[in-house]
Amino acid sequence: MGKLVRIIAHTRMKIYIDGAYYAKEDAKISVFDHGLLYGDGVFEGIRIYHSRVFKLKEHIERLYYSAKAILLTIPMTPEAMTEAVLDACRQNQLENGYIRLIVTRGAGSLGLSPNSCKNPSVIIIANEIQLYPPELYEKGMEIITAATSRNLVNAINPAIKSLNYLNNILAKIEASHAGCEEAIMLNSDGFVAECTGDNLFIFHHGVLFTPPLAAGALHGITRNTVMELAQESGYTVQERNLTRYDLYIAQECFLTGSGAEIVPVVKIDQRVIGEGIPGEVTKELDQKYRALTKVAGEPL
Ligand code: PMP
Repeated sequence: MGKLVRIIAHTRMKIYIDGAYYAKEDAKISVFDHGLLYGDGVFEGIRIYHSRVFKLKEHIERLYYSAKAILLTIPMTPEAMTEAVLDACRQNQLENGYIRLIVTRGAGSLGLSPNSCKNPSVIIIANEIQLYPPELYEKGMEIITAATSRNLVNAINPAIKSLNYLNNILAKIEASHAGCEEAIMLNSDGFVAECTGDNLFIFHHGVLFTPPLAAGALHGITRNTVMELAQESGYTVQERNLTRYDLYIAQECFLTGSGAEIVPVVKIDQRVIGEGIPGEVTKELDQKYRALTKVAGEPL
């Protein structure tokens, strides 16, 4: 019994908020935080594999870029943030898992102006990850195109990983109503931007295509890694505007994201993609990605 209690106490989640650790039940922020009131803040989703934090430098850099874009001053240096993330992983004794790193505008008045928010908050949740069901990776995923367009680059640029995810949530609801896990989001010109929480690739006639970032997508870190792995393997990779037609006739399609990793797509809007099973190039890149996660990353 004593041993059991110790093990449970051992694995209790510790959540970092502004320099201190709290148990899950006590990890709270103000109801006046503009992150809650207005989705005013930025975040990152990062993976831990084999006691290493994968692509930590890239995630920290993107966090500071997102913050800069919304004129939010993060109250610590990137170096201190890096240390805080590593420490949160150690505190939670995670060898494999997921880190949610959040910077909110902080508590202020009920008005919109961020000027009343004097102290942005830094929150780090390091936890296990719930992936899509394993069958989806083996059999491939069916997705739809959402009627909801991706945010305009001149409104909330999708490059900013902000706490305001309503645009994506609306499309995710459409996916769910259609019995799917993911949905493709188009930009206002009708070109493919990305999915609600993943970037998108197709493979056709020997070339790997993905929409350019200017189409209105998050600058995905997994996207970048997959492009590098594909080039190393001798594939031609092209960033090109894609229409739904391009997706329908593609030989292969897959999604990328830190949480999702590489997800084969086998049906889009009822059109079977390729042979209707995960494609060979998708599988090859997935193997290469997995191999990289075994050896790369910031050690804990
Ligand atoms: N697009 C969106 C909208 C996302 O939220 C994410 C992250 N889940 C991605 C793409 C993939 O980005 P990354 O590979 O950096 O995790």
